[in-house]
Amino acid sequence: MSSALRSQKQRWSSPLKQLLHKPSLLTHFHFSTTTNATPESQPTHSSPPPIQVLLTESTGRGVFATRKIGSGELIHTAQPLLSHPYFNSLHTVCYFCLKKLANAENSRISFCSDSCRKHAMGFCEVENQADWSAFDTHCRTQGLKYPLLVRRLACMVISGIASSNSLDILQPAILSPQMIALMEEEFGLLRSALSDADVTGEKMTFLTKQWYINVLARIRINSFRIELVGGSYEDLLLSASSSVNAEGAVGSAIYMLPSFYNHDCDPNVHIVWIENVNARVKALRDIEAGEELRICYIDASIDYEARQNLLSQGFGFQCHCLRCLSND
Ligand SMILES: [Zn+2]
Ligand SMILES: [Zn+2]
Repeated sequence: MSSALRSQKQRWSSPLKQLLHKPSLLTHFHFSTTTNATPESQPTHSSPPPIQVLLTESTGRGVFATRKIGSGELIHTAQPLLSHPYFNSLHTVCYFCLKKLANAENSRISFCSDSCRKHAMGFCEVENQADWSAFDTHCRTQGLKYPLLVRRLACMVISGIASSNSLDILQPAILSPQMIALMEEEFGLLRSALSDADVTGEKMTFLTKQWYINVLARIRINSFRIELVGGSYEDLLLSASSSVNAEGAVGSAIYMLPSFYNHDCDPNVHIVWIENVNARVKALRDIEAGEELRICYIDASIDYEARQNLLSQGFGFQCHCLRCLSND
């Protein structure tokens, strides 16, 4: 994801453009321009999206425009590989798509539709077999949200709806030995909750500490905070601002294509979530054919020093975008 963590870019040496045309490589949560639920949320152009993923010498993998893109244009949509509500939204949003629930019950998880319930059936069956109280308590008290995504992936793998290497294509964070040591406990709690349940050993063989670390390293720098903006999509298209009023984050999610965008403190593209976890990638200004599309990984309104600190701590790189070069 970041522009400086490219140590493993040899791994991407196969033509990445192919990815855009081979949804079979992805799980059934692959990005799409056609499968969103509501008609008004549909992009106005037909697929494929006007972008390609390329490797460059300076930034590694990046997303580039294949034609002129107009300000406000919806470039593509993306469905998550993986998503999970935050603890404080657990009972107020759909457990699958994170849509705000009209009739939320305070004590249990719910779904916004039969379709979401059906999609979640596989991992929910596995989840429901286990007692998660120790795992949840640990995550809540430590303020951890990423282990929830790892747990969901583990349950998806056990139920057969995802493969254990689903996230391997994403760039991993570089983890310090201290960070890895801290993961020991959450991994142990995840593993014991599942082994104490009715999950057979055969289905658990993928669930090693190394698998956990590999997945978490990818989630750490590729997860998006999902802030639903609500309102109508047309209003949003009219908005030229990269900071749209949101109601606060309801959860986090991992995507394939949106993770290929590099960072810029003055981005030409941003990602918005209207009513659920399905992402919409939108142009913030006119973009020329061949130009790289970049999103801002952090709050773009903060000053130079704060941005450099956040990017270095959170994503492991120093930003050299035009705005940073001008010390703005
Ligand atoms: Zn839903
Ligand atoms: Zn910058």
